Amino acid sequence: MRVKLPNGLLDGQDHFNYIVISELTGKQQNYLADRELLESNIGHIPKIISDMIVSLETKEGLQWKGNLKELVWKLPAGDLETIIIKIRENTFGSRYYFEAVCEHCGHINKNQRLDLDKLKVESITLKQMMDPNRRTIKLPKSGKLF
Ligand SMILES: [Zn+2]
Repeated sequence: MRVKLPNGLLDGQDHFNYIVISELTGKQQNYLADRELLESNIGHIPKIISDMIVSLETKEGLQWKGNLKELVWKLPAGDLETIIIKIRENTFGSRYYFEAVCEHCGHINKNQRLDLDKLKVESITLKQMMDPNRRTIKLPKSGKLF
């Protein structure tokens, strides 16, 4: 599956903002389902994400020549979140069902559905990436600026 990343990686003259990912194998799913492993050491999560990445490319398909095993440490959080959601979609399909508990009355809303293929991803432009002044972030809940 080829996925457009919200940010991507600038390397030399090229903007690598498309990633090709595979699907989770049974072995990797067992790792993720192992509660003891998750509680004692989450270090295997970046390793599993790394294993899913087939290539990083420009829009035109030019492949990044860097070390893919180190890529998870170079990409911003928004790109990693996009990759994790798309690995989920690529492995189990785009329909994600869940339950939500109302925080006011405790009612359990069953069979809630999120269509992963319809999530909107806002991309940053190259100009925005290069602009050193554009580093202010407004937190959505508190409105604080950083
Ligand atoms: Zn309620």
